[in-house]
Amino acid sequence: MFDKVLIANRGEIALRIQRACKELGIATVAVHSTADADAMHVRLADESVCIGPPPASESYLNIPRLLAACEITGADAIHPGYGFLSENARFAEILEEHDITFIGPTSEHIRIMGDKIEAKETAKRLGIPVVPGSDGAITDDVQAMRVAKSMGFPVLIKAAAGGGGRGMKVARSAEDLEVAFRTARAEAKAAFGDDSVYLEKYLTHPRHIEIQVFGDGKGNAIHLGERDCSLQRRHQKLLEEAPSPALNAAQRLKIGTTVANAMKKIKYRGAGTVEFLYEDGEFYFIEMNTRLQVEHPVTEMITGLDLVLEQIRIASGGSLSVTQEEVTFSGHSIECRINAENPKNFRPSPGKITYWHPPGGLGVRVDSGVYQGYRIPPNYDSLIGKLIVHGKNRNECLMRLRRCLSEFVIDGIETTIPLFTELVRHPDIANGVYDIHWLERYLSQQPES
Ligand code: ADP
Repeated sequence: MFDKVLIANRGEIALRIQRACKELGIATVAVHSTADADAMHVRLADESVCIGPPPASESYLNIPRLLAACEITGADAIHPGYGFLSENARFAEILEEHDITFIGPTSEHIRIMGDKIEAKETAKRLGIPVVPGSDGAITDDVQAMRVAKSMGFPVLIKAAAGGGGRGMKVARSAEDLEVAFRTARAEAKAAFGDDSVYLEKYLTHPRHIEIQVFGDGKGNAIHLGERDCSLQRRHQKLLEEAPSPALNAAQRLKIGTTVANAMKKIKYRGAGTVEFLYEDGEFYFIEMNTRLQVEHPVTEMITGLDLVLEQIRIASGGSLSVTQEEVTFSGHSIECRINAENPKNFRPSPGKITYWHPPGGLGVRVDSGVYQGYRIPPNYDSLIGKLIVHGKNRNECLMRLRRCLSEFVIDGIETTIPLFTELVRHPDIANGVYDIHWLERYLSQQPES
């Protein structure tokens, strides 16, 4: 086991990882930018190192500075969290070269899955069903039109290097295609420095269902069921739940087994999430994330497993703590992402939290890195916490979530809590009948303030 782990992240996920390390008796090193000197992840770590000014490129994304922090503190492993360098194959490779353990998959697996075109081809080869689309990258208008016409409109143009919902454009008809194709390429170039794009059939009413997997890197792999992340705005998840209201046990077993078998074949190591769109009873692979996800707690709540602990065990050469047969699912869990944003127009709302009262009680978990008096810097993602609730069934979970949202008080800034308060009372959410387009439709019917 490791003696000391450096956590190359900030906010709630840095704290989440620290908690797992502490329970394992591992010393923790926090790194931070000058904007985060007062952050909770810095205050609670055993040691901390300031690695640069607020821009992420000069701090949380700066590999030489992270290596220096590792060297100074003598950390023997780095946990990257999510975002930042968590899916950067070069970073994982550099750590491999420096004999520092990267708590995650091999750089090779990150590289394969980081290119969405290669990831789709790999998935297909491994027997995972994929969204119909172009074979490889599309490089000109004529080719785009030919593929789109053969697939039928609407189509979606996606960036090979995509992430965070960027570089994605829908073309509803042939007339839209040229502009959508050019815009997607320009956006992909600006966001990722790579203008490779590909075409996919645009699904009109799918749910987003993802499978959590774990591999030990030696050919053993298990799945921990699914998460339903269909409540999205601009392709970004806002509320996640497990299990999905759309799946039964047989469907779960079938897709879970397919994915776990694929991970065994590639000898996948660590935590991964295989994302699907699910429409009319069929699963379509869209991508694989080779890291811990924001929404991992809903899986923890229904399986009773600590996914970060599991990641650390595997990275240190240990085996999976459970076999597939030992994985059991109990009850229902929902997570709401609490963002420092205006709940109507989603404009970021950084600033000082003047009052903070999180809810509590049975089956209630709040993962957050903020506190009363904390000033949220404007430089980073607006996620300030996650409210995660567990109940013995979906109905109890929803009742508990409604109660928790009414108890949660955050003053001084705006948050997404009022939006969730509305949503959890909506009959479609209560009945679990919503697809990935539901929230956008709902929001477009609401008056903007
Ligand atoms: P990113 O890596 O940018 O998050 P994904 O491929 O994971 O991109 O897709 C993000 C979201 O975009 C999905 O959850 C879904 O809402 C939407 N999406 C992706 N592919 C399609 C598709 N073929 N049809 C309809 N919606 C899609």
